[in-house]
Amino acid sequence: MVVTLNGMTLPSWASHVEDKLAPMPLLLVQAFVDTLDRDQGTDILADPDEARAWLAGTGLRASDPGRPDPDFADDLRLARAARESIRALIGRNTGDEPLSPGDLAPLEQVLGQVQPRLEAGTDGRVRLGPVLPARTLADGLLGLLLIIRDAQADGSWDRLKLCGNPDCRWAFYDRSHSRRGAWCDMASCGNRLKNRNLRARRAQLSEPRPA
Ligand SMILES: [Zn+2]
Repeated sequence: MVVTLNGMTLPSWASHVEDKLAPMPLLLVQAFVDTLDRDQGTDILADPDEARAWLAGTGLRASDPGRPDPDFADDLRLARAARESIRALIGRNTGDEPLSPGDLAPLEQVLGQVQPRLEAGTDGRVRLGPVLPARTLADGLLGLLLIIRDAQADGSWDRLKLCGNPDCRWAFYDRSHSRRGAWCDMASCGNRLKNRNLRARRAQLSEPRPA
């Protein structure tokens, strides 16, 4: 399935993101983090079959249909843990606290398994690899880290943010001129949180004052 948005043809693996999309290849980082949708209560990386297909479709981990895949349960655990590490990295763009060693542990695990390496291409370009599609999940996650590194170098990283609703934490790309976007979607999260704060303030006001 191919979704078209604002003239941009979206790969099927990003069809769950729908709105406030990062440019490629940073979109892959956003789509990975947003495989968990707390608002809808869905997680693409919860069901093994769905997760295997999604990771293969993104090029983060190859799969051979019909072949036994004994490492998959461990890989799926690592993928979900790395997803929260990367969410914590993005959280720094929206004022979250510095990351703890625990936040970084899944990424350290990846970097303990694979190291970036320089690759000279037939096109004459020298780049850091591995490049996606990757064979193993560790290579795929390292590919995500390299995308993050490039986005940090070109400044696009700063626009990737987490929704200000603490129950949501959806990753969105802030294209606003002011760069002050705070919500994944004003209708679902921004207004909901504003109404909640308003109700709390009203409740405070209507409480009898201590004599
Ligand atoms: Zn939200």
